[in-house]
Amino acid sequence: MSGAAHIVGGGVAGLAAAYETAVAGRRTVVYEAAPQLGGRCRTVVGPDGFSHDNGTHALLSCNTAATGFLKAIGALGDWVEPEPDGLPMVDARTGTARCVGLSPFSWLDPNRRPAGFAAADLVRLAAAALPLRDRPVAARFAASGLAGTFVDPLAVAVLNTRSEMASSRRLGHVLRRLARPGAARLMIPRRGLGPDMIEPAERALGRHGATIAFNARLRALAVADERVVRLDFGFGSVAVAPEDMVILALPPHEVSRLMPELATPAAFESIAGVHFALRGPAAPRLVGITGGLSQWVALREACASVTISAASDLDRADLADRVWPEVRAARLCVGLDASEAAPDARVLIERRATIRHAVGDPIGFPRTRVENLVFAGDWGGPLPATIEAAVASGRAAGRRRIHASRRSKRPSALREAAI
Ligand SMILES: Cc1cc2nc3c(=O)[nH]c(=O)nc-3n(C[C@H](O)[C@H](O)[C@H](O)COP(=O)(O)OP(=O)(O)OC[C@H]3O[C@@H](n4cnc5c(N)ncnc54)[C@H](O)[C@@H]3O)c2cc1C
Repeated sequence: MSGAAHIVGGGVAGLAAAYETAVAGRRTVVYEAAPQLGGRCRTVVGPDGFSHDNGTHALLSCNTAATGFLKAIGALGDWVEPEPDGLPMVDARTGTARCVGLSPFSWLDPNRRPAGFAAADLVRLAAAALPLRDRPVAARFAASGLAGTFVDPLAVAVLNTRSEMASSRRLGHVLRRLARPGAARLMIPRRGLGPDMIEPAERALGRHGATIAFNARLRALAVADERVVRLDFGFGSVAVAPEDMVILALPPHEVSRLMPELATPAAFESIAGVHFALRGPAAPRLVGITGGLSQWVALREACASVTISAASDLDRADLADRVWPEVRAARLCVGLDASEAAPDARVLIERRATIRHAVGDPIGFPRTRVENLVFAGDWGGPLPATIEAAVASGRAAGRRRIHASRRSKRPSALREAAI
């Protein structure tokens, strides 16, 4: 295949796109603004050597684009099921724990249901899976009486958006996927996102001859006759030949900065992580929390990580001390001891963790007349902004056929930068 693929953004979407173009034999270059790959999926190593993911990332077995990508890069075997028998859930108010089935089908058994979940709620859940008019998730479950204990945690876990504004249409997409047999197995990286996804992806790209330019922030792109003809980086400019393609695998705010004429999502939600330097089990465990600040506690060999989604209004003050009792409860729930005092912790808040998935928001990447430009990223599809959406968009972008322009539109003054 002729023509280079210029992929801007080395997050999961960009890596998946690059994998496709490199395997197809295109000369592939990934330009990443940061000194490391992964974007919102990365392992953080502090100056003190304490290392953890930017936030605990989980996949479900119905995320077939993501698992297919992991398999292709040789990393699927490094993703483990921490709770194959059901998710331990702790009520932070009472300290009581129960084991909840991960598949909604398992909730036919009353002993495997979320607390307070009744048979009638199964019918409501099935109805929420139907492709009906978009409404707030809270309104879909208004008659359930489970607002605080099930509906809001569900909307926050799946859509990173509070249930009063979260889109039932987006939730429906996920519920329909979850209805497939074997769809609800939950997986997390055994060691972390860096060693179990990003580094294998980088190695796979290297094997297929792709090049990665780090610290390469795209400042502007030049368009002539409806084709991208030049990419401007801090280090210089890269000419885009008539037969080349450009994939912008960037978050929407970056697309809007580069191409302000395009309409992109403008509302975001944060995710806060509190990471305690603390010895845990040899194999990772995951505990769900209700009635507290945290939603998840991941217990790993050298770290306990708390996830607080839809955290835009969260007060950061004393956060580690406030969530520590929930980490204690999670540890006790899986048979680990826990001291009264909180150990050292690092708080990391991703302000634009995902777009907000509100009712009525348009779905899809913006339309552009630029012929050799394709978008990728977690924000353009019908699924919530997740690894699955990012990989699916990246692979689709990488497979797009771009027709070479008939005549060269390359301005004569352009120079190819050395990278
Ligand atoms: C704390 C947290 C927890 C999460 N938990 C889950 C989870 O459990 N399961 C799940 O599936 N998803 C989860 N997500 C969402 C998931 O991380 C994202 O959906 C996914 O990483 C998005 O990938 P992306 O490639 O679309 O975007 P990004 O990761 O944002 O990648 C964009 C890349 O482009 C680079 N870039 C930006 N501007 C430029 C520029 N001008 N020039 C060059 N490069 C540029 C960035 O540095 C970045 O590397 C979570 C996210 C966060 C933050």
